[in-house]
Amino acid sequence: ATPTALLVGTGRGAQMGILIKGPETLESTRRVDTVVLDKTGTVTTGVMALVDVVAGPGEDVTRLQSRAAAVEAGSGHPIARAVVEATPERPVAAGLTDLPGLGARGLVDGVEVTVGRASLFETVPAELDVAITAAQDQGRTAVVAGWDGVARGVLVVSDTVKPGAVEAVRALRALGLRPLLVTGDNEGAARAVAAEVGIEEVIAGVLPAGKVDVVQQLRAEGRVVAMVGDGVNDAPALAVADLGLAMGAGTDVAIEASDLTLVREDLMAAADAVRLSRRTLATIK
Ligand code: ADP
Ligand code: MG
Repeated sequence: ATPTALLVGTGRGAQMGILIKGPETLESTRRVDTVVLDKTGTVTTGVMALVDVVAGPGEDVTRLQSRAAAVEAGSGHPIARAVVEATPERPVAAGLTDLPGLGARGLVDGVEVTVGRASLFETVPAELDVAITAAQDQGRTAVVAGWDGVARGVLVVSDTVKPGAVEAVRALRALGLRPLLVTGDNEGAARAVAAEVGIEEVIAGVLPAGKVDVVQQLRAEGRVVAMVGDGVNDAPALAVADLGLAMGAGTDVAIEASDLTLVREDLMAAADAVRLSRRTLATIK
């Protein structure tokens, strides 16, 4: 009866948009007590919108935005997509480089343009600092754009919590899992999303490698950790978790690194996956 139950479980999973990699995965779902959720693209839709552009002293908004968009055209990050989408007229950029978890860089109009975290710049003018803080206080994500090492403006993007995320967090809790939100984004944006979906524990401002550290740290504390991510800068964390769940169509790296692939975009798929796996296991035993 054992292989039959496994087959039924796997088949039922496929119908629900849950692809289970192997029988060992089921065993992990029985023991998990903690779920680490990546913010962008996992708890939120990951479809961001450019809501504001603030130019620094003496800088022109249009030039700033178009140069930033030219560089973002080479990045698949949700922030990049928002900037590109809002800027149909872009100069051509050369030598585009993605800086994972930090930003993007490239050559535009003969200058090296950088877009991303403020830490990519040596100094940020006070006016821009004020704009960044104001945006973050509203729960938004603010990135800095500039060239020749000088920060020249701020781009503000907003993200939306996925429909059903509140219910999904509740369902994960009901399964005995303690939820944590982890993100490379700023504390303000992270707290706003966490509050909206009912999560108290937030770890913000982490680099992609920092997400791995968060999972390792929890495991060192004796917790059995499930990690849910979309594969954008979180594939290594999916791989080190006791149970890695790749959300959405995901990237190939994410699917490779995970134990479970959730074909559905809604976060409830994560709770469904744990529930289904546990039930399948109960049938086998
Ligand atoms: P998350 O953990 O929310 O998925 P990431 O680790 O992908 O976030 O990114 C963390 C931060 O790095 C972003 O909030 C942003 O400040 C910056 N960043 C990363 N990629 C880009 C990009 N292509 N353009 C601008 N900023 C970026
Ligand atoms: Mg992400």
